[in-house]
Amino acid sequence: MIIDCHGHYTTEPAQLTDYRKAQLEGLAADPSFLPSRADLNMTDDEIRERLEPAQLKLQRERGTDLTIFSPRAVGMGHHLGTEQTSHYWAEICNNMIRRVCDMYPTNFVPVCQLPQYPGVEPKESIPELERCVNEMGFIGVNVNPDPSGAMWTDPPITDKWWYPLWEKMVELDVPGMLHVSGSCNPNFHHTGAHYIAGDTTVFMQLILGDLFKDFPTLKFIIPHGGGAVPFHWGRYRGLAQDMGKPTLDEHLLNNVYFDTCVYHQPGIDCMTKVIPTKNILFASEMVGAVRGIDPETGFNYDDTKRYIDGTPNLSDTERTAIFSENTMRVFSRLRV
Ligand SMILES: [Zn+2]
Repeated sequence: MIIDCHGHYTTEPAQLTDYRKAQLEGLAADPSFLPSRADLNMTDDEIRERLEPAQLKLQRERGTDLTIFSPRAVGMGHHLGTEQTSHYWAEICNNMIRRVCDMYPTNFVPVCQLPQYPGVEPKESIPELERCVNEMGFIGVNVNPDPSGAMWTDPPITDKWWYPLWEKMVELDVPGMLHVSGSCNPNFHHTGAHYIAGDTTVFMQLILGDLFKDFPTLKFIIPHGGGAVPFHWGRYRGLAQDMGKPTLDEHLLNNVYFDTCVYHQPGIDCMTKVIPTKNILFASEMVGAVRGIDPETGFNYDDTKRYIDGTPNLSDTERTAIFSENTMRVFSRLRV
């Protein structure tokens, strides 16, 4: 059993992206504009046409059994529009994910986005989280630690500002992937800089804080291999030590997990060497950030199963843990 814990719906029919475009353009022209949900119509065939030659074909070719599936990350765009359009947009995207998971129940399981907005307290996202988990069977949530889109204007994730959302996630028993969205800061390319910087930033916030003292069962996944964290593991161990914090094992590793969206063999070799196996979850983020073929290997950069298979650092038991067992433990609502 191979579970990809990080896949986005990046092959939406054009109606969905057109709807978002109309929403934002209408709002720019008239601040009170709200597009009707009824404007969004698409058939199951239109969904199939785009999904089958992409995510579904790649699942088959690469031998992935199941993908934990969430809305396009850069599409969340929490820094765009208004608080209200963010709500509309999150509901629409989450409903689309539910629809796709209903069409392909053995291929996808749903994870939601939240209607976050810069300067708005995360507790405002709780009703949509409850709707997704309690009414629609979602098993996890993507939380944007920087709804401002690379401006970082809201408090760190260890601040009490976030606590009501963490309380609700604990109560619902859903893990959160700490996943930023688009960047409105030209200094930060979204997938190449903002994502990786975001991953690294939240890890350091967690070192600085004591969040898991207050939430011992809260679970976070840091995507994209944890940004720069595994490569700089010594720096983070050392910083924690200098600050008088417990060792990272004790301080964070009962609650924080890293996915394997790292697009070359030496990166996965480093990660599997320094991060305990129990904290690593298989993922590819396909179809998404990097779409090309690596001329050095002849395979897609995001064909990450090859790197897990190819690393000398893992036993068969450890591979099984990374490919499925760890993910089933972290996403405890997942029933395969
Ligand atoms: Zn992603």
